[in-house]
Amino acid sequence: MSTGTGPTVDVRITTRAELALRGVALDAPVRRPDGAGPSDDGHFLVGPGLVDGAGAALPRNPDSPYRVRDGKVWLGDEDTGLTLTPVQRPRFYDLTTADGIPYEHIARLHGADVLATTVVQTCVRYAEPDRCRFCTVEESLRAGATVAAKTPAQLAEVAEAAVRLDGVKQMVMTTGTTTGPDRGARNLVRCVRGVLEAVPGLPVQVQCEPPGDLAWIRALHDAGATAIGLHAESLDEEVRRRWTPGKATVPLAAYEAAWDEAVRVFGPNRVSTYLLVGLGEDPDELIAGAGELIARGVYPFVVPFRPMSGTLAARDGVEAPSTELLTHVTEGVAAKLRAAGMRGADQRAGCAACGACGVLSTAGG
Ligand code: SF4
Repeated sequence: MSTGTGPTVDVRITTRAELALRGVALDAPVRRPDGAGPSDDGHFLVGPGLVDGAGAALPRNPDSPYRVRDGKVWLGDEDTGLTLTPVQRPRFYDLTTADGIPYEHIARLHGADVLATTVVQTCVRYAEPDRCRFCTVEESLRAGATVAAKTPAQLAEVAEAAVRLDGVKQMVMTTGTTTGPDRGARNLVRCVRGVLEAVPGLPVQVQCEPPGDLAWIRALHDAGATAIGLHAESLDEEVRRRWTPGKATVPLAAYEAAWDEAVRVFGPNRVSTYLLVGLGEDPDELIAGAGELIARGVYPFVVPFRPMSGTLAARDGVEAPSTELLTHVTEGVAAKLRAAGMRGADQRAGCAACGACGVLSTAGG
């Protein structure tokens, strides 16, 4: 695709942003169905070349103007210069536990080499009016595609197989928020320990709300987690109250305290937060806020909001952000990351290290 102006790298970022929002007219053997977080995409490798493709989670959209022929992405008759290959179905999906649960219901492949699981698939905030408007964490449970709570033993069994059979290189463990003051961290500690007993050295990222007692952050680190995501989703309290009403009862000040403690315990650039583009936050305030996060050692993982089916936002007809907005925020945040020498890949585990749901890695962040 050509915009007519600007260096080639800008065109690549714009095209990658367009792909993230409009998707590709192609099915994918590996998908993220309903679940926590912002997307239900197909998993692909997108790159300047087929070999150096980076993971990309893209909507599968038969109406997308982007088509794939001969491993290349085309916009009409125009070669975008990007290559795209679907991630193949991993072998561990064919296995089941001794008690008959498909491994695929316990953890899933994200991108080419990330194993992802939601250890508790229910959330104390899922009932309206508390529920986050972009979230479908309990929908995959209702669809029978997962189990409500994964045991450390089940996770260990699946992780061992995924590493051995499919070359998985890192694991992401997220959780719905539980009722206790630890908000799910206590259970994550047990799950990390279980997995690392079976697969010593596997980089694992944990994701949870800031625990009420910050000592849980140390406990997660001591259990062996490599990185931690404490996801605010927005840095604007008014946007948080509208989009994440339940989570917004935990003020940003509590996130700041948790981020600082996590950087102290895990080290700089081992802590991250999602920031969703398209929730109505002022884009330049978002970029400036991301800069403050970078300065405190926290990686701001900028991701487009997508109106996934099953979400309250989709029900209400909210649309994804424009390519221009996503490109503007991505380039602004990537410039700050580059200036600070902070790269998502250096987190070693987690969404920032994977990068597939955003465009930052294409922009050099
Ligand atoms: S960025 Fe996170 S949610 Fe997205 S594909 Fe990678 S691991 Fe999965």
